[in-house]
Amino acid sequence: MELLGKYGKEDLAILYIAKQDEKVVEFVESLQPPIPREEKWVLIISTMYGCPIGCLMCDAGEYYHGKVSKEGMLEEIDYMIHSRFPDGNIPIPKLKIQFARMGEPTLNENVLDAIRELPEIYDAPGLMPCISTIAPKGSENFLEELIEIKNKHYPNGLFQLQFSIHSTNEEERRKWMNPTIWNLEKIASFGEKWYVKGDRKITLNFAVAEDSEIDPDIILKHFNPEKYWIKLTPVNPTDRAIHNKLQSGITAENSEINPLVEEFKKRGFEASISIGEWEENEIGSNCGQFATKYQNNEVVIRENYTTSDYNLSD
Ligand code: SF4
Repeated sequence: MELLGKYGKEDLAILYIAKQDEKVVEFVESLQPPIPREEKWVLIISTMYGCPIGCLMCDAGEYYHGKVSKEGMLEEIDYMIHSRFPDGNIPIPKLKIQFARMGEPTLNENVLDAIRELPEIYDAPGLMPCISTIAPKGSENFLEELIEIKNKHYPNGLFQLQFSIHSTNEEERRKWMNPTIWNLEKIASFGEKWYVKGDRKITLNFAVAEDSEIDPDIILKHFNPEKYWIKLTPVNPTDRAIHNKLQSGITAENSEINPLVEEFKKRGFEASISIGEWEENEIGSNCGQFATKYQNNEVVIRENYTTSDYNLSD
């Protein structure tokens, strides 16, 4: 792997962009201020070069150049770990490795091998893999196998599973993501097989647009509040979101008190808004934005640049 550049801030998030077999991959390490790295460190890696799904709000779907191999994913992870913990001993209570940057992880079976191998490679008691999926057609076998891996290697809440569902209107969901995605009923029935006592609750994530249809009663009809929690996020201003005229329903102004969160809570769900860092939007480091612009020769990457060096939202 050849590192092409890194971008961001040591105390918030660093985006790395690299070449693997002539293909561009991006990965991120981030902190959640004020929590120090000694307590929580989040690594977010790509599982594909681009993405074949093409969700309306995601720049990773601009192109698709194939799956990252198991070795390629472990390289992304090790690049970030090695510089800080060269002996592979990582005494951090929460080390989240999210397979959630570019690519739909459940369509890449190499992800399963990478997740299986991680505990053999690192001495990291806080290691917690996270899979975020839209549940496309073809993810069935992957997710079934993941149940066994989770129960064997990551019991007692050390695995996080997220379904990005975005709406309670099935037609809207298919339009936003892909016509082949699982419906809510199928996701709920899988969740029943997945969840065992002691597991972390499964996350249901909505990227909320101004005119999104999100009905907490429909969610309650399908999903048990004891097994799921609700995460609402803004629609980030990616190139594709702007092109598709998706305006975020969550803004800096309304993120503190949001009626939708209250509606979910009334029905017994834990629910919260996760805004990430607004600065991430300004530096253009949302999923896939940097690699896509690199592919399109819109940026020249060099090391040690600062946020003011590039205005990626141009
Ligand atoms: S949101 Fe996920 S599944 Fe959709 S295009 Fe982006 S990477 Fe692919």
